[in-house]
Amino acid sequence: TQNRIYNFNAGPAALPLPVLEEIQESFLNFAGSGMSITEISHRSKWFDDVINDAAERTKRLLNLDNRFKILFIQGGASMQFCMIPMNLLPEGRSADYVNTGTWSTKAIKEVKVLGKNVNIAGSSEDKNFSYIPKDLQFSRDAAYVHITSNNTIKGTQWAQFPDTQGIPLMADMSSDIMSRPFDTAPFGVIYAGAQKNIGPSGICMVIIRDDMLERVPENLPAMLKYTTYSEKNSMYNTPPCFTIYTVQLVLKWLEETVGGLDKMEEINNKKAELLYSLFDSSSFYRGTAEKDSRSKMNVTFRLPDEELEKAFIQKALDNGFGGLKGHRSVGGCRASIYNATGLDAIEALVDFMKTFEKNNG
Ligand code: PMP
Repeated sequence: TQNRIYNFNAGPAALPLPVLEEIQESFLNFAGSGMSITEISHRSKWFDDVINDAAERTKRLLNLDNRFKILFIQGGASMQFCMIPMNLLPEGRSADYVNTGTWSTKAIKEVKVLGKNVNIAGSSEDKNFSYIPKDLQFSRDAAYVHITSNNTIKGTQWAQFPDTQGIPLMADMSSDIMSRPFDTAPFGVIYAGAQKNIGPSGICMVIIRDDMLERVPENLPAMLKYTTYSEKNSMYNTPPCFTIYTVQLVLKWLEETVGGLDKMEEINNKKAELLYSLFDSSSFYRGTAEKDSRSKMNVTFRLPDEELEKAFIQKALDNGFGGLKGHRSVGGCRASIYNATGLDAIEALVDFMKTFEKNNG
C-alpha cells in the first residue's frame, strides 16, 4: 500500500484495496490451477466459476428477478450506443432519448447513423446540461426510452427514474451502477462500462430482460447481436478473463465486505454530502450542477478563476490527491467518488480544500 494516492479519477478509477491485494496474491497461481488468471483457458471450469459467480452476485446485489440475463460484452459502453438501436429498435418504430450530456448525445448520434428514428423526449442542453430535465414528453408508441443515469462529465444524476408508463427503459449506468439500490422492474436494458464502479476497463456489463432478447433481429453480425452473448454465456469468442475476474472480486467485496447496496448508498450519501456542504458554505468553491440534480459519483466544481484551478489541481497532486482535473471538454475540477473511494479519502480532501481556500481565498 506504499505510495498509493487518494484516487479521484473518473475512469479507469480507484478499485477497492482488498480486491487489488487478492489479485496480487492469486496472480501466479489462480484457484490452485498452477496458472495465472491471465493464462487459463476461458473454456475451463475455473473461468466458468468466475463468470457465473459474477452474474449471480450481480443478480443478488440488484435484486434482479430471473427474467434478467447478465452479459459481458467488449467495446465499452460506447458500443451499446449502437447495439441497443440495432437490436431493440425495429424498422419503422422510433425510440425516445433524454439528452443529459456528452454521453447521451453520443448515444443519440448512433441511432441517427443507423438511419433510425429518434425522438428527444427531454434535454438540458439549454443550460449546458447542468440539470436533469423534469419536463419529459414520451411518445406513446416509443420502442424504448433511453437515459444516462449519471452524467460523468457534467456531474448530474437522476435522483429518481422517470415513469415511462410501461415503455421499457434503457439506461447507461456506466458511472453509477452498484452505487445505490433501485427498482429494476421498468428496465429492459441496464449497461455499464466496468471501469468506473465495478472493475478495470475492457468489459461492459449488460443486464437485459428476456422480452428484449425476443426483439433481436436475425440479420445482424454475430458480435453485435445480444442473443449471441445470451446463448453462449458471453463466450462466443474469447472474453477478457482478467477484467471479468476483477469484476467478480469487486462484486464479492460489495456483497461481503460492504454489505450490499443499501450500505453502499449510505456511505456514498455521506461522501457526497461532505463535498456539497463545503460548496454550500463557501464562496470560493462553486458546484456546477443544480442542487436537485447533483451527482453523488462525479462532483464537478469551479474555483474563482482558471489560474486558481490550475494551482489547486497541482497543489492537490503534491499532497497526494490525484485525478481532480475536470473533463477536457468542460475544464474546472471534478472529484469522482465512486464506491471504492472511501469516506476517509473525502474527509482528507475536504480538509485540504479548506486549507487551500484559507491560503488562497
Ligand atoms: N457512458 C458514460 C456515462 C460514461 O461515463 C462513459 C465513459 N466515460 C461512457 C459511456 C463511454 O464508456 P466506454 O469508454 O466504456 O465506451
